[in-house]
Amino acid sequence: MTTKVLLKFTAIAIAILLAPPILSQNINNWCSTPDDDTPDPAGVFSYSEDMATAQNFEPIVLNVYYWQVNGYHFENEDPLTLQKVLASVAQLNIIFNEYNIFFKYRGYDEIDSPNGLQQVIYDGGCEFQTDENGNEILDPDGYGALNRCQIGQFFNFASNNGFEKEDAINIYVPYATESFAGAARSIGTNMIVMPTVNIEGSILHHEMGHALGLRHTHSSYTSTFCEHVTRNPGDVNYNADVRGDRVTDTAAVPDFTNEYCYFNDPDASCSFGSEFNKYYVNQEDCTYTGQNVDCEGTSYQIPPEDVRNYMSYSYRSCVTTFSPGQAIRMQEKIVSDNDLIPAQTTIASLYEPYRGEYYDVGPSGNLLEIPFLQPGFDYAFHPCSGPYNQPSDYEDTAFDYIPLANTISKYTTDYFSIIHQNHTSIAILHPAIDSQPRRCYSNTNRTPVGGRVVRFEDGVINYNVTVTPQDSIGINQENLINTLNPGLYKIEKDFDNGDVEQTVIQKSND
Ligand SMILES: [Zn+2]
Repeated sequence: MTTKVLLKFTAIAIAILLAPPILSQNINNWCSTPDDDTPDPAGVFSYSEDMATAQNFEPIVLNVYYWQVNGYHFENEDPLTLQKVLASVAQLNIIFNEYNIFFKYRGYDEIDSPNGLQQVIYDGGCEFQTDENGNEILDPDGYGALNRCQIGQFFNFASNNGFEKEDAINIYVPYATESFAGAARSIGTNMIVMPTVNIEGSILHHEMGHALGLRHTHSSYTSTFCEHVTRNPGDVNYNADVRGDRVTDTAAVPDFTNEYCYFNDPDASCSFGSEFNKYYVNQEDCTYTGQNVDCEGTSYQIPPEDVRNYMSYSYRSCVTTFSPGQAIRMQEKIVSDNDLIPAQTTIASLYEPYRGEYYDVGPSGNLLEIPFLQPGFDYAFHPCSGPYNQPSDYEDTAFDYIPLANTISKYTTDYFSIIHQNHTSIAILHPAIDSQPRRCYSNTNRTPVGGRVVRFEDGVINYNVTVTPQDSIGINQENLINTLNPGLYKIEKDFDNGDVEQTVIQKSND
């Protein structure tokens, strides 16, 4: 008599945690990343604008770590949740994976503000507040509601007090910000800050663009040393590689948000949110409608993709893209920047759970949590087998697997469904990463608490079945299969954590 295992897989029941609704917050002010007019160092940037070059870049993985920033003593009006942080990680990967830049989620923590911060109001300049006797007025929110004028001191505070992971990009998240929507510490940095409401969406991508070395596409547009309109390298006026954002495939553009005031009436009350905000951008189709000129008087030539660029000051509903030149500049910055080099990790790390643990031996009730993988990738989990009580090494691909994958999309928002289940391996589906199944986890040590034997009466898998329930003794008896008559069966084993392991066998007489 022979018994053939046809298929073995595990189904896990798990509670789905629902996200609370995102708070809405109207932020008309924009980015507060400092300008940087330092010339590019020699030999670092290629100024290439070839998409094939961007997509041939050796994939690189950056650790990312989040910090919830509270008031003085845990107060927080919009705290981080795992759901929010994972949504942010997923978005970073979906946007930046196109350029072979990956993010490995490393967790989140929280920071209380230091005592005694002075209240400050931003009104075009920074006005630190004192009472009539000249005594400092205490900032009631601390860094929890971070003012534009506090950004620099906040970064110094975080860096000097153990709240900066040197081996990660640090994303600081106060519950609110005053007079700005996000900031990077510099162009090329491992520290960025934005309020909770912005850790998903275009401001996240914009600030990460700064962190990875990008300037605003309108950089220095008001200067006499502005980026010129011409894109022809043979033109004597060509300076796209040394002025503005120094990216040659983004057009010379003005700051769309403040352009009207600059060109028409710089002394008028052209404040953010006024009727002149983004005056020359059509919000419906994201086209540029202005007739303005660069610092030499040449009319701007601005195609829609520059109105849609993440590093412009366009409508958030318009921005959806980086240019190939920007992608290549980020890649070249990551591998040359002293803050970003230590933040890199391995491709193998993407196959490791961000929380939970693998069962090994003994009572399975000791397990704190099953292993969860981060969202933002297209996964394929193939059934696999081998002597792996713990997942096989990333490099060890000698195991057998069945090419019948359970796939999970990078767009799923059911983050707690992304589990490395027993008897499966992991493949991440991306053109820059081989789709080889890795990390086969095939643990047979756990003892089921009960189950059932399902006999398919017609010899094929259909609904004509006879089900025989088994208690813990019955399901664990060594000769369970020997007691069965020839035929097609499914044996289901129930485990105390809710797992159900199913094995389909064909038993024959030969
Ligand atoms: Zn910016």
